[in-house]
Amino acid sequence: MATLYSKPATDEPAWWFVVSSDHLFLDETGAVPFGTLQQLSFPDLTEYQVVEMGEMRERSCYLIMADYMDEQFTGGAFAPLRQLLTVDDMEKFEMAGRARQFSDFLNTHRFCGRCGTRMQSVDWELAMHCHQCQHRCYPRVSPCIIVAIRKGDKILLAQGKRHKEGLHSILAGFVEAGESLEQALEREVYEEAGIRVKNIRYHLSQPWSFPHSLMMGFTAEWADGELHIDPHELVTGDWFGFDDLPPIPPEGTIARTLIDLSQKG
Ligand SMILES: [Zn+2]
Repeated sequence: MATLYSKPATDEPAWWFVVSSDHLFLDETGAVPFGTLQQLSFPDLTEYQVVEMGEMRERSCYLIMADYMDEQFTGGAFAPLRQLLTVDDMEKFEMAGRARQFSDFLNTHRFCGRCGTRMQSVDWELAMHCHQCQHRCYPRVSPCIIVAIRKGDKILLAQGKRHKEGLHSILAGFVEAGESLEQALEREVYEEAGIRVKNIRYHLSQPWSFPHSLMMGFTAEWADGELHIDPHELVTGDWFGFDDLPPIPPEGTIARTLIDLSQKG
């Protein structure tokens, strides 16, 4: 479990996730810094909040809360977190996402949302606590459904407004307060595509730290309704034969895994 009070030993080899806003400090090779504090040319960490986040490959992972584009860190540079998705492996990317979410949580919970008193970090779990009114906050996780919908030997793919040119993916949307995952899925699919689905099956999940989503992956089958793509959310969308797919998300993404599962039936 992550804890907010950490004093890493200077001779402990560890992974260091130095976060500044939505940027992460990467070494000169473009990788997440690994090594002992003696080896790395980091500033004196007593000036920083350090959070122990758990382990990766049997080594501790620490979050260091840096100032905006902190110039005290040398021998590398701050880069947008998404950059790590293309240059490094998924495990590191997900731990970096965790670091970013923890950092965002700490930065946005300095004061109590109920009474306005300055909050204190809890020393045995990742939480912020108000000693005035006993309000306690935990990092926010926003569940999001993502679903591959099949109709015969075709799959529904759409181009989102923020997708790269030509990239088509499956439908996704946030769960609203008070909804079950199934209700959210049925509502999103109807709102975005105008159709009803059946045989909804859950398969897997993936954290997605932009900014704090948890993608819950499903497959489903078309039940009825004519396709009607919502122009507010999507650019285009259609049924595509599995043997004639447009550009789709790369392997390793939950969208791609669900497209492949849908194809297998
Ligand atoms: Zn309070």
